[in-house]
Amino acid sequence: MALSKILLQLDPDSQTSTFDSVVAVDSGVDQLFRHANVLPEEVRNLIYGLIFTRGVPDLKSSAVFVGGSNVAAGEQLLKEVVNTFFGPMRVSVLFDANGANTTAAAAVLAAMRHTNLQDAEAVVLAGTGPVGQRAALLLARQGARVRVASRTLEKATSVCQTLEQRLEQGKFQPVVTKDENSTSAAIEGAAIVIAAGAAGIQLASEAQLQDCSSLKVAIDLNAVPPVGLAGIQPQDKAVEINGVLRYGALGVGGTKMKIHKEAVQQLFQQNDQVLDAEQIFDLGLALENN
Ligand code: NAP
Repeated sequence: MALSKILLQLDPDSQTSTFDSVVAVDSGVDQLFRHANVLPEEVRNLIYGLIFTRGVPDLKSSAVFVGGSNVAAGEQLLKEVVNTFFGPMRVSVLFDANGANTTAAAAVLAAMRHTNLQDAEAVVLAGTGPVGQRAALLLARQGARVRVASRTLEKATSVCQTLEQRLEQGKFQPVVTKDENSTSAAIEGAAIVIAAGAAGIQLASEAQLQDCSSLKVAIDLNAVPPVGLAGIQPQDKAVEINGVLRYGALGVGGTKMKIHKEAVQQLFQQNDQVLDAEQIFDLGLALENN
């Protein structure tokens, strides 16, 4: 008899994310163990309960999802989960707090549909948040040179240094976008713009995008009005205007959901996977190519 697929949902928020639970069920999970308010020091015992109950050959039928709205708190939980494993005593883990990994992956895949990222110039506006940082990482991993924009140089520089530790030197350039002129300068010469600003914050005007003659793809991840890139509708999906392919947050959202479901299903293939930004992107890429 096939074992039930059990997903342990760890969430640092006061309520476990309903969104994450629904996606888990829709992805074929049989039993969902939902834990809210999870603290890093509580992770070990929760994981012991998962890895010591089924025999090693059956551990691929148990898995962990770390989610919730607080990405930094989720990262702490992920670290504890992975540190608890030893030898064959492990299960696969998916990390997608606040949808940051799946959203960034879907945005970069959208860009790749229309332009070769190898040696391309890309800019991530408000690239210092969880989604922006991951989009920058994934763009660079595909060969792009990435400008990471922020209202402050210190923040942009700090993010670039962190990203360079994960990938390679020279791929990331910090840029400041504190007013209209500096934002235009940040976009100038770029083929790809991904706007990853906080909800309801406009980062660039339509005129600024139109003035950027090098631009091929513009992607806005903010669905809350005003949108991040003025003129882009949230539902836009590969809408071409003046030679620029535009995507809004909802236009990227369909791919994001597909990747999320695929990643949950992938957890139950083997017991030793840690699905973070890069691995989730690779799953998305495989989906695109099928
Ligand atoms: P975030 O952390 O809330 O904000 C990202 C960056 O926005 C911040 O680091 C900050 O950069 C900048 N920012 C904040 N307030 C600003 C202001 N008043 N003016 C100008 N810039 C400001 O965002 P996130 O969690 O990474 O998410 C990015 C976007 O993706 C959001 O719009 C979110 O709603 C969207 N999202 C969509 C999905 C989806 O399923 N479609 C999933 C997740 C997220 P600096 O301080 O460095 O300037």
